[in-house]
Amino acid sequence: MPKDYFEKLSDHKSPPTYKFFNGEKWVNSVSDKTIDVISPLDDHVVGKIQSVTHAEIDQAVSLAKVAQKEWMKVPMIKRTQILHLAADWIREHEHYLTTLLIKEIGKTHTEAKDEILRSADMTDYFAHEGLHLTGEELSGEAFPGYDQTKIAIVERVPLGVVLAIAPFNYPVNLSVSKIAPALITGNAVVFKPPTQGAICSLLLTEIFRIAGVPDGVIVTITGSGNDVGDYLTTHPGIDMVTFTGSSQVGKSIAEKIGMIPILFECGGNNPALVLPDADFDNTAMEIVKGAFSYSGQRCTAVKYVLGLTPTIEKLLPLVVKKTKEMIKMGDPRVGENNLGPVISDGAANEIEKRIILAKAAGAKIVLGGKKDGRFIEPTILDHVTLAMDIIHTETFGPVVGFIRVKSIDDAIELINQSSYGLQASIFTKDEGAGIKLGQLIDVGTVQINSKPQRGPDNFPFLGIKGSGTGVQGIRYTLEAMTRFKPIVLNKPQ
Ligand code: NAP
Repeated sequence: MPKDYFEKLSDHKSPPTYKFFNGEKWVNSVSDKTIDVISPLDDHVVGKIQSVTHAEIDQAVSLAKVAQKEWMKVPMIKRTQILHLAADWIREHEHYLTTLLIKEIGKTHTEAKDEILRSADMTDYFAHEGLHLTGEELSGEAFPGYDQTKIAIVERVPLGVVLAIAPFNYPVNLSVSKIAPALITGNAVVFKPPTQGAICSLLLTEIFRIAGVPDGVIVTITGSGNDVGDYLTTHPGIDMVTFTGSSQVGKSIAEKIGMIPILFECGGNNPALVLPDADFDNTAMEIVKGAFSYSGQRCTAVKYVLGLTPTIEKLLPLVVKKTKEMIKMGDPRVGENNLGPVISDGAANEIEKRIILAKAAGAKIVLGGKKDGRFIEPTILDHVTLAMDIIHTETFGPVVGFIRVKSIDDAIELINQSSYGLQASIFTKDEGAGIKLGQLIDVGTVQINSKPQRGPDNFPFLGIKGSGTGVQGIRYTLEAMTRFKPIVLNKPQ
């Protein structure tokens, strides 16, 4: 039963106070300070988490440093077995984690369950792919001036202690996408979960431990990003930072940390370019799903749609119709509701402010536009421009804007002016034309005839410009979490 395994994590009061994992034990912080994790659904305190001190971070990182040296010697096949067990434990506790995830971050049941099961599948895949991660052997004779006397045995070795920072919108999946590859490649992990989503993340830590990850190889530091963030990211014991979160926080971390490898997935502000020959029915459906799933709080959400005026005039009524048919706002635990609240009052106020500003600057609200507490109606705006805050900066809520362009070339130019570069979608029946246009768009990935999306997780996933640096995706993440270590044999002449 989950309760038995997770018994030691909290004091079981109402609301429970959770401990943090210092690498050896579940403990309360000496700070005597806790943070309330408040459900966006109904304001109830899901639990309290520890605000960990700098001295506790020092101890945990030192422990991780020592433990990593032993962990990297554990045979890959054994590490693989531990990860497969962890995947099984995630599945075993799916219902428990799903319920908690719904409370902590307000996802629908389907979204939460998908996130948990995808995390288990991803853990299995990382374990499997880890077995195929190899180095190489090179001979000096291939380079002018050298002969067969030099042979390089090029191994792939772990980086050391990896700091993993995850965002609130996928606190399980985007934690696993960092923890599992780091562990399989022989790194230790200092895990900083998002405050909202921290409780699921603590359970996840225990799952990896139950599966057999030794003491010190994973430590989990809770505390607000403001309090512990800078201290963790600039800590001399950290050998790599893998971060998913906003562009703003990503940039501030990148400016402060020294010369260590980074893997950053940041904000997205993804356009959908619709050509006149598109299948409008499918396009409208993809736009609705892309803009409003998890209340638009996805880095790969569709944020604006570009097309020639006749295209927009044909498409817009369809998008409005499908939004009314497909999206039901309300508590996602009730009936068919599939558009829940955004994560906090602050987020809801900011979204409302941007809608009002966009309207004042000439945008037309075609659907929605109103706020009720943390619930924002699915909102469709016409006549938006890239200068408006609503699409100039990522708006993490259920809002999509339509831009009428004079030509497809203008659309490409507009997209490329954006400071973001995660994904873009192109809708057309002419796949060849789609590919050609896709080659001109400055983003990490272009989707043809689908909404932007992260999966399948074995595909490379990357952002350029303000959307990130480095490449994720099963094999790519494993490569990013290792470095080459050539040992050169010099044979006597
Ligand atoms: P966020 O505010 O940037 O926070 C992300 C994580 O960083 C949290 O764990 C946060 O902790 C921590 N943090 C905050 N300040 C920090 C600092 N100074 N140093 C170190 N860590 C710090 O982002 P969010 O609101 O959780 O997530 C939404 C954002 O993530 C959106 O912009 C979204 O597009 C982006 N995202 C990107 C991808 C992608 O793949 N490109 C995927 C998912 C989400 P606290 O929670 O304690 O503040």
